[in-house]
Amino acid sequence: MTLPIRDDLRGLTAYGAPQLDVPVRLNTNENSYPVPDAVVEALGKALQAELRDLNRYPDRDAVALRTDLAAYLGHDLTTDQVWAANGSNEIQQQLLQAFAGPGRIALGFTPAYSMHPLLAVGTGTAWVDGYRAADFGLTAAHAVEQIERHRPDLVFLCSPNNPTGTALDPAVVTAVLDAAPGMVVVDEAYAEFARAGTPSALGVLPGNQRLVVTRTMSKAFGFAGGRLGYLAADPAVVDAVQLVRLPYHLSSLTQAAARAALAHRDALLATVEAIKEQRDRIVSVLRERGMRVADSDANFVLFQTQPDQKKSWRALLDRGVLVRDVGLPGWLRVTAGTPAETDAFLSSMESL
Ligand code: PMP
Repeated sequence: MTLPIRDDLRGLTAYGAPQLDVPVRLNTNENSYPVPDAVVEALGKALQAELRDLNRYPDRDAVALRTDLAAYLGHDLTTDQVWAANGSNEIQQQLLQAFAGPGRIALGFTPAYSMHPLLAVGTGTAWVDGYRAADFGLTAAHAVEQIERHRPDLVFLCSPNNPTGTALDPAVVTAVLDAAPGMVVVDEAYAEFARAGTPSALGVLPGNQRLVVTRTMSKAFGFAGGRLGYLAADPAVVDAVQLVRLPYHLSSLTQAAARAALAHRDALLATVEAIKEQRDRIVSVLRERGMRVADSDANFVLFQTQPDQKKSWRALLDRGVLVRDVGLPGWLRVTAGTPAETDAFLSSMESL
């Protein structure tokens, strides 16, 4: 029997990076380092303090958490310019619900984050692909040309871009804002891993009411299981997403845990430099071996394989190393983790 599912969802496949139990898991750009003991203790206390009040709904507006997030971001941002949800995926879904949806168009430039088109479909938004250049770059001229052609209601940019690792020049963001008739969302999930001199689009926010920057605690903070994403934008954007958010969408446990994690950000973010070192090591060793590798400002590296990347993916898995096949013919993506994980990945690559 076939269910009466929406026509535009029939036959689609759900997002699903394999969650396999192998020794070296480098396929979802998580932070490989477990939460440090001192932070585990602080999280435990923060959660314990909430338990008796679980009979009550949480703060619907998550004011204390948003205040902490604004302080973390800096750039003179205030609580009313920040909004939080269960991962930046939920943030982006809310943005599509509020600013796109049926009869409206979202434009992205692939290869980019694979959830952007899926979130568009789920919210009934038409998805248009403007494509990146063969070297994975995105120039202002190309982006503007695509915007003028399609007149999208919402544009997704991703910097550093997943899966290529490429960061965007803020001049591209500015050019896109000037050309776009609607909202411009810059997905900065990997911002904390950017190399020195790679600026964030947060600097472009003042005076740009249609710009939204999305961030997450899933990567640099090593808080993927905690599910906490957020945005920075004009207060009017925050008001708009309140129209579509579910009431009490962020549990009091999530809010308390995220606040405790933010309070211990020095301990959590201490892994970022070590991860960047491993990223740079992967890039340079693979290049020394004569392979093509994309520049990366993130915690992962896109590298060229044999023309059928599925064979290389399988061969690495057979050696206990799980990387990501993002569907780009001849390329695979590997997350930068601990030095031991890099050792395992690089020696497996050598034996392919
Ligand atoms: N944006 C990008 C570019 C990502 O790669 C990811 C995670 N893979 C996300 C957003 C979503 O992260 P989360 O929902 O965990 O915040």
